[in-house]
Amino acid sequence: MLRFLFSSLLLCLPLFGFAQKADYRVIPLPRQITADTTQVFLLTDGMEIGYPSGNPEIERTADFLRQYVIETTGLNLKLTSDSRRAQIMLTLKSEKRESADMADGIFNSKYTIRIGKNGIVLEAPTEEGLFRAVQTLRKSLPVGKLRSVALPFGEINDQPRFAYRGVHLDSSRHFWTVETIKTFLDMLALHGCNQFHWHLTDDQGWRFEVKSLPGLAEQGSVREQTVIGRNSGVFDGQPYGGYYTQDECREVVRYAAERYINVIPEIDLPGHMQAALHVYPELGCTGGPYPVWQVWGVSDDVLCAGNPSTVEFLKTVLGELCSVFPSKLIHIGGDECPKKRWKSCPKCQARIRELGLTDDGQHSVENQLQTAINHEIESYLKSLGRDIIGWDEVLEGGLTEGATVMSWRGIQGGIEAARQHHHVIMTPVDYCYIDYYQVKENWNAPLSIGGYVPASKTYSFEPVPKELKAEEKTYILGAQVNLWCEYIAYPPHLFYMLLPRLDAISEVQWTVPEQKDFNDFKQRLRHQFRLYDRLNVNYCKTVE
Ligand SMILES: [Zn+2]
Repeated sequence: MLRFLFSSLLLCLPLFGFAQKADYRVIPLPRQITADTTQVFLLTDGMEIGYPSGNPEIERTADFLRQYVIETTGLNLKLTSDSRRAQIMLTLKSEKRESADMADGIFNSKYTIRIGKNGIVLEAPTEEGLFRAVQTLRKSLPVGKLRSVALPFGEINDQPRFAYRGVHLDSSRHFWTVETIKTFLDMLALHGCNQFHWHLTDDQGWRFEVKSLPGLAEQGSVREQTVIGRNSGVFDGQPYGGYYTQDECREVVRYAAERYINVIPEIDLPGHMQAALHVYPELGCTGGPYPVWQVWGVSDDVLCAGNPSTVEFLKTVLGELCSVFPSKLIHIGGDECPKKRWKSCPKCQARIRELGLTDDGQHSVENQLQTAINHEIESYLKSLGRDIIGWDEVLEGGLTEGATVMSWRGIQGGIEAARQHHHVIMTPVDYCYIDYYQVKENWNAPLSIGGYVPASKTYSFEPVPKELKAEEKTYILGAQVNLWCEYIAYPPHLFYMLLPRLDAISEVQWTVPEQKDFNDFKQRLRHQFRLYDRLNVNYCKTVE
């Protein structure tokens, strides 16, 4: 009887019966998946990952894969540059672009994965594509302490929808250590993002070391105290500060680059500058004194646009910024710059007359004055080989020639900019502000700025407005979520806000609309949550 039971068990269970299966339907969902679940390749301990010898970039990506596999499954794989032996192969394959104007951000992330009886082949036209392939393979693996993984035979062909796939982080209102930034970048890499927009300066703290203006980091980074809650009028009495040395910024750039993420630094100007005014009060219209701001909101005190030293100051800051950050795009903010001080400042008014600005019924003279500053900054950055991005307020005084617009107050700014043939990144507040609550019953959620942007809302965002003509649509580079940190002070809260709304935006950025389905996404999210548990990263468990 026992013998019978034993043999029938053997008959019932195919050889891979004990192995958990991989599932290629990861987040963001790849474009094309074919899988034959009746046949599998069995991945086991000691198997090898091969990379082409003499290519250290691919060797590094192969080693990432080795680390991911052991982290996710406990299986210990080895690296080899001997391609004949390896069961997993990373290989470059030269390929022509389908169309001449296919953006780098799309082409560079293309890849194919093939799983068959001899093993797994990851193939891409670029090193970056291989990195994206590794992320997909990693996410498809079951999570646990496993003896083997069964990978169904099949093929994945994938490429992202948008060239620009960004995430923003505010390091001014609260300061994040380099270690936390690295975990943040790991999450971006996991989701196929290729742009990290780093908000480094604001009224409440200056976080970027400028060597020739050391006061910015030393005094501009520290506020004496912080208001409790939502501008309650009660303060905590605790000094708060922190800044990144240039070497630390370079380390962030290096870490991001290894994960094929570009770091776009933002120096918000000419508003959001009270921390700088604290150190250089002579650059304000009233002369100060200005404390590093201790409350939340938008300060009326901005850089004086009539003082020639203002532009000199900005050039010094941006010059050093560009020596640290290689990004072609530099964010110059431009949002929420109240014109109250400029209207009553003799220097600002004299400058308006000097420039011969007149109200044209569409753009006020003060808004045009801001454009004049943007213009000077843009030409300076051009001389350093860089282009500018600004928040959509930069439209108000007329756009400077090469500006890319980040549309945040809805999509209208983006529509307007695309019609003027400017590049656009869509990040409208109603869909993409992930500092808002993500659960409706928020009495038990950590304090937030307010609002309600659940994952389903972010997921439903369509970055290309129907109103645009076909040719205008090509100016929409992609989408981004923004994580402002007035109310977020600790890493577990930061990642709770980020995840799973990062998952949601990643399918907006990567997956074509025909393939998107929120219910299906929610099913796939279960596996992603197991991975977050494994990685010990916090996330919001309620998905609305
Ligand atoms: Zn002024």
